[in-house]
Amino acid sequence: MSLLVAGAGVVATPRGNVALAGPRQRQIDLLPGAVVRCEGAEIVFVGEAREHDRRFRRPDELLDAGGGTVIPGFVDPHTHLPFAGYREDEFDRRLAGDSYAQIAAGGGGIVATVAATRAASFDELLALTLQRLDRQLLAGTTTTEAKSGYGLELEAELKQLRVLREAAHRHPVEIAATAMPAHEVPPEWRHDPDGYVELIVARIHPAIAAQKLAEGVDVFCERGVFSPHQTRRVLADVHRYGWRVHLHADELSDLGGAKLADELAAASASHLLHVSPEGIAALAQGGVVAVLLPGVSFFLRERYAPARELVDAGVPIALATDCNPGSSPTESMPAIMALACLGARLSSEEALVAATVNSAAALGRAARIGTLEVGKQADLVVLDAPSPKHLVYHYGVNLVRHVVKAGRVVVRDAGLLR
Ligand SMILES: [Zn+2]
Repeated sequence: MSLLVAGAGVVATPRGNVALAGPRQRQIDLLPGAVVRCEGAEIVFVGEAREHDRRFRRPDELLDAGGGTVIPGFVDPHTHLPFAGYREDEFDRRLAGDSYAQIAAGGGGIVATVAATRAASFDELLALTLQRLDRQLLAGTTTTEAKSGYGLELEAELKQLRVLREAAHRHPVEIAATAMPAHEVPPEWRHDPDGYVELIVARIHPAIAAQKLAEGVDVFCERGVFSPHQTRRVLADVHRYGWRVHLHADELSDLGGAKLADELAAASASHLLHVSPEGIAALAQGGVVAVLLPGVSFFLRERYAPARELVDAGVPIALATDCNPGSSPTESMPAIMALACLGARLSSEEALVAATVNSAAALGRAARIGTLEVGKQADLVVLDAPSPKHLVYHYGVNLVRHVVKAGRVVVRDAGLLR
């Protein structure tokens, strides 16, 4: 089965198989009038239409880009997709002046989501997750990471990850599942956080690994959650499981999370609002991808991560939605890119690299997805826009017209194909 994407005003893509840092973080190739040909799941040609017609026969299927912009499908490298229990009531309380901590103290916050997620049936959780995957796909995301971490007990963590496995079978969006029982200390272990750490190490992680339900692991390293010492303990055995390591680091305070990410050879460190200059140097030296979540800064009206300092130090930046009910309830990568530019001062080119090849690198996938090059998987988006800058400039609306996943058209004329 061959597919030709033709009629584009421009094809815009980063290049390469690794995370791009420093000046390379803003290198986007612009190919006016180029076509993209896919054979099966793979890209076999990107270039001039005339050369294509000389070298290839007519494709089985033609997708008209309508003068728009063709870009790689977005990769969202940090989400908490499989949750139940939205928290829209807290939103008005926060606007009225209550802090996140005050709301949490009253039984709201993450504890409310944990209770709702534990109570949800497998089918309820699956339906919610598929709905969010639909929204991601309609906004141009073709691969997403997704974490457990609202179960915080063996069976509920397994349920969240089994939901992700089932969703991956049913939905075109590719899912990278991450085990995160160390997202928070659950209420029943508040008196003994170290006891919960030992439960994770002795029972929860081994069970997840035995059922092959995850390809990575994440820990929320923060004051009042898991200390650096506890984080090391949670991760002590994970090399046995072959899991990629991710950290929630330096979000609310500088606990040395970035340096810990380097020490633990983490693939990515997320948040980093309070990262120190030493932490930035450690990320650069370790080749750790900094996953920035500007949706959280916007939604909680907090400061933004020091994106310019990170880029200038040579740390590759990726962007993610952090899709979750408390601090960033959105599935839209273009919305996140606009916030990264307006709030954290990335350029539109840096934001596009951050949302594609660098986020693919954070998930160990940069050799396969994240750019439009021969040999890569054919994951692409056709935008109803004359240039990729419109992704951030023309904000607040969905410019995605068509989406191709692994060589198959899965969104046409802004509608899902079933
Ligand atoms: Zn998160």
